[in-house]
Amino acid sequence: MRLSDLQTGDKAVVVKVLGYGAFRKRIIEMGFVRGQTVLVELNAPLKDPIKYKIMDYEISLRRSEASLVEVITPEEANQLENRQGEKNKLNVESWKTEEDDCIERALTQSSKTINIALVGNPNCGKTSLFNVASGAHEHVGNYSGVTVDAKKGFFEYKGYHFNICDLPGTYSLSAYSPEELYVRRYLKNEIPDVIVNVVVASNLERNLYLTTELIDMDYRMVIALNMFDELEQSGGKIDYKHLGNMIGVPIVPTVSRSGKGVNQLFDTIIEVYEGRDESVRHVHVGLGKVIENSITPLKDLLKEDPTCNREFSPRYLAIKILEGDTEVKRMLEGSESYPELMNIRNAEVEKIEATLNEDIESAIANEKYGFISGALAETYRPGDKEEAKTTRIIDSFVTNKLFGFPIFIFLMWLMFEATFSIGAYPMEWIENGVAWLSEIIGNYMPSGPLKDLLIDGILGGVGGVIVFLPNILILYLFISFMEDSGYMARAAFIMDKIMHKIGLHGKSFIPLVMGFGCNVPAIMATRTIESRSSRLITILINPFISCSARIPIYILLVGTFFPQYASLVFIGLYLFGIIVAVITAKLMRRFFFKIDETPFVMELPPYR
Ligand code: GDP
Ligand code: MG
Repeated sequence: MRLSDLQTGDKAVVVKVLGYGAFRKRIIEMGFVRGQTVLVELNAPLKDPIKYKIMDYEISLRRSEASLVEVITPEEANQLENRQGEKNKLNVESWKTEEDDCIERALTQSSKTINIALVGNPNCGKTSLFNVASGAHEHVGNYSGVTVDAKKGFFEYKGYHFNICDLPGTYSLSAYSPEELYVRRYLKNEIPDVIVNVVVASNLERNLYLTTELIDMDYRMVIALNMFDELEQSGGKIDYKHLGNMIGVPIVPTVSRSGKGVNQLFDTIIEVYEGRDESVRHVHVGLGKVIENSITPLKDLLKEDPTCNREFSPRYLAIKILEGDTEVKRMLEGSESYPELMNIRNAEVEKIEATLNEDIESAIANEKYGFISGALAETYRPGDKEEAKTTRIIDSFVTNKLFGFPIFIFLMWLMFEATFSIGAYPMEWIENGVAWLSEIIGNYMPSGPLKDLLIDGILGGVGGVIVFLPNILILYLFISFMEDSGYMARAAFIMDKIMHKIGLHGKSFIPLVMGFGCNVPAIMATRTIESRSSRLITILINPFISCSARIPIYILLVGTFFPQYASLVFIGLYLFGIIVAVITAKLMRRFFFKIDETPFVMELPPYR
């Protein structure tokens, strides 16, 4: 429970303080440390601020600040031990006498719970790390935007209970793509104890951009230097200890595909959580004198105005205000100093843009990249990129002008051919099995409603559906192979021009192919498409793509009405779906969504 949830007169024990570093420090210094008892003394007339008593001091906190202090009440402690029945026995007055133990145990339990969030670029191995850590089997794929939702898992390690959350991949924490907003809102609302920033060891320059934003946010953080195997193979070298000291964040090399280094990662997380890691230090990602001079007045104002948002650090908010982040503006709109903040902002932006002769966003990004290359110059030596060579060789075939399409069409053909012709064998076995079972039951069971239920209902019904299981499995096998290897991104790349003809992106192609498997994940996969109109069109035409659940119906109809031309009509149905999808897309682009806002930017990850 959060401190802000308590009523006047309630007592509770502090578990931990959430939020960004400087804020935590201040609150902790005021006495809100683990195990201290807090009493809610008085709500101000307007329910804000609230007067608390802790260590015999009276302290007033804003509700927004109190909401960042996690506490445990005797009732909660009881519930944790499943002792609701004895509720009356434990009353607040007698805490420190009879029931000390119960509270103490509950406190230990909740302060040994570490909530961590995985944050990183798309495709850096977050889901793989999530899977090895929590033993889950979430979907991994080698192109951006596979994870579209926060996936939660938990596990025990060294006496700690870890709640781990796999977030969608982002390149930064602004308000551009749905992923970025999603991750930022998650950090704001859930306030994880430790952020695990997953970065790709062989691509640090870009990956660390997000890291600089997380450093600005001033959360407790550990960096997982993932795909360390690739870096080692390519002969690259990195002095990660030194780099970690420089940026004030401990760095642990990991290979999340095999689980190597993951234990060390969690050891470090525990150290950071308990405040024992020495390399943790709040560093400012220096943005150059001109910009820093503009940040300072904004930051000071934010710090002084208690009505401002407390979930993010003033520095982060100040930078985002300068960048003109619309959501951060909205967050601060209600605060007293908002008009003044905007005035300062506009004046400062003008000043920066005039002095540096570039727009504010590029100025900030340039400074950040400058900081990163400075840090890397001292610590990092790239390898000669063995794997990049392999990727280049494969790409010179599959995205080649001459071979690209034949290879692509061949792979598509192979996928459908395998699905239907190889799938036909197990289908037959299942059919025979079901028939055999019904025959046995038919022969040995006396007639009656139960027999009808078994044969016509259960065997007929379930059997009619599971015969298509082989098809679906094979289709999924192919789709996931294409995804995991990285070919899917190439397919999108070579299809871009054609997709453009119907007013869509190459990226829309992936969800459309996935639609052959199942339209539901396919529609979810459209989240990678930045442009809202393309995303909507792709979602709306996806149901025309024949998903595998339609196979049984097609087969039934085709078998009944067109037995002579079965396969022709069957393919015709698929094609018809595609044609309708194309026409619909064209019509929608024509009449509903005229402009397409964003360019086609898509990462082509190395083959893995
Ligand atoms: P996410 O987008 O961050 O969730 O990344 P995924 O977990 O889906 O992984 C993307 C791709 O990288 C997959 O093909 C993984 O098999 C591969 N991968 C993940 N971790 C490692 C690693 O440590 N080493 C290598 N070589 N490949 C990895
Ligand atoms: Mg993922």
